[in-house]
Amino acid sequence: MKFLVDRNLGKLARWLRALGVDAVLDRGDIGRALLDRGYREGRAVLTKRKDMALRNYRGRLHVVGPDDLPGQLREVLGAFGLEPDRSHFFTRCLLCNEVLRYLAPEKAAPFVPPYVLQTQDTFRQCPACGRIYWAGTHRDHILKDAGRILEPPGETENA
Ligand SMILES: [Zn+2]
Repeated sequence: MKFLVDRNLGKLARWLRALGVDAVLDRGDIGRALLDRGYREGRAVLTKRKDMALRNYRGRLHVVGPDDLPGQLREVLGAFGLEPDRSHFFTRCLLCNEVLRYLAPEKAAPFVPPYVLQTQDTFRQCPACGRIYWAGTHRDHILKDAGRILEPPGETENA
C-alpha cells in the first residue's frame, strides 16, 4: 500500500515512513490535483479535509478523523489492514520517503561521530538527500514511541 498524504498531515507521513510505509507528502493545494496525483501514482490519498470524500474520485481515499498522531496512525493502519513489521522499520528516509541503501562503515566513517562508528556496524543512507541512519538512542526512542502508539488503547498492564 502506497500513500499520498496531504500537506496538513506531515507528521503522519513521517511516522508512516518510520514504520517502513511508502508515504509521499503532497505540498500542493488540497483539491482535485491531489486526487489526480494519487490516482496517477496508484497511491491511496490521506487527507484531513472531509469535503474531499464528496468529490467524484475513482481512486482510494481516506479522510483521517483524529487530530492526535497516535490516533491517526492507528486509524490509517486499521483502515488499510496494515500490520507494521519491525523488520521494515527505519528502511525509508524520514524526510524523502526514499528506500535507504546499506552503507559500508568505512564509507560512513567521515560523516558520523567517532563513538557511533565504534558502537554501530550497520549504516544506511538515503540515495536522495544523503542522510545517514544508524541504530541509536534516537531510533530506540522512536521505536518505543511506535510500540506505545501501536498498542490498542486500554490494553496496558495497568488497565
Ligand atoms: Zn532523504
